[in-house]
Amino acid sequence: MTVPVSPESATTFDALGLAPLILDAIAAAGYSEPTPIQREAIPLVLRGRDVIGLAQTGTGKTAAFTLPLLHRLLDGPRRTRALVLTPTRELCTQVEESVRKYRSTTTLEVASVYGGVAYEPQERALREGVDIVVATPGRLLDHLEKGTAQLELLELLVLDEADRMLDMGFAPQINRVVAQIPAYRQTLLFSATMPPEVEALARKYLRNPVVVQVGRRSQAASTVTHAVYPVPQSRKTALLVDLLQHEDAQGSVLVFCRTKHRADRIAESLADAGIAAEALHGDRTQSAREKALEQFKSGAVRILVATDIAQRGLDISGITHVINYDVPQQAEDYVHRIGRTGRAEATGDAYTFMAPDEIATVRLIERVIAQEIPRVSRPGFDFGTG
Ligand code: ADP
Ligand code: MG
Repeated sequence: MTVPVSPESATTFDALGLAPLILDAIAAAGYSEPTPIQREAIPLVLRGRDVIGLAQTGTGKTAAFTLPLLHRLLDGPRRTRALVLTPTRELCTQVEESVRKYRSTTTLEVASVYGGVAYEPQERALREGVDIVVATPGRLLDHLEKGTAQLELLELLVLDEADRMLDMGFAPQINRVVAQIPAYRQTLLFSATMPPEVEALARKYLRNPVVVQVGRRSQAASTVTHAVYPVPQSRKTALLVDLLQHEDAQGSVLVFCRTKHRADRIAESLADAGIAAEALHGDRTQSAREKALEQFKSGAVRILVATDIAQRGLDISGITHVINYDVPQQAEDYVHRIGRTGRAEATGDAYTFMAPDEIATVRLIERVIAQEIPRVSRPGFDFGTG
């Protein structure tokens, strides 16, 4: 069953059935009205339904599950009653931050559990008792094995960024986690896309779910202006420097490339050209990654060069440009990458560098997003095709 987004559905948070305490937190967050996915999903979650929420990146899916989840936990004993599974450490801390923001008016406690950092602080938080655990699957399994996390009394399970979790090969871990959760529970699944693997996951873990889908499945964020720069592979770094040094790309710029090695090299080349940049990828230590992200978020560093780990879900407000130094291999990933910019109605530009061997991939992306991306020829860089 699919619920179309109808114009007559509630347009204010007040009308959704959330408790006054939660409404206070929403007001404090400065949200004046629910986003379409929130409008549709929140009443269903409050009614106890299993929900599949599909909406493009940046449409407010986190609050769509967190707000009704908090409402449902408002009364009751302190024990782990809700679990949110997320694919990456970065997303895990980001969802935790959102939960903290929305729980600010309540006494509900939240802890995040992810790899690459010490166990003890997480164990301490879990021992002290938390209502909501936000976790990546691998580290959570460690805690379950040690007995420091317990899910026997869990009431609510959220699979966030489900497509990404499956992309990252987490299906077996998710399986092992869910095996420890009571079958009698409410399960929510949120995803930007619904490939067959996600459908299979939903069939396995959700009971009679309602599908809430906002917008077309593969729609690119509509406030983003796209452009493709034809450029030979060997001239990409020069083009990047040129764009960053000129008016075309002022502001905060997120650069995506294919490999960790390339990310480091690009960041170094930018530094050589006098442009401060940080690299974000899986080979850097957790603290180096956090520091890079912090510096980028605070504006201390204007350019972040990232591999796929930063691709989905990261909410860094104020990104003005996303530059695909390499064309994403999967057309769907293009949608996710440019979802970093143009979030919550801001505008942004998405530039894609296209070498001759990437022309076919760009054409495929254009088919998926059902939109032609204008070619922009930069004098001295174009290879004359595309
Ligand atoms: P998604 O998970 O769909 O990619 P997020 O949940 O990360 O998106 O939300 C994207 C941004 O939109 C966040 O900065 C969030 O604070 C903001 N946001 C969420 N809901 C609202 C709302 N109702 N009004 C204004 N901003 C919102
Ligand atoms: Mg999200």
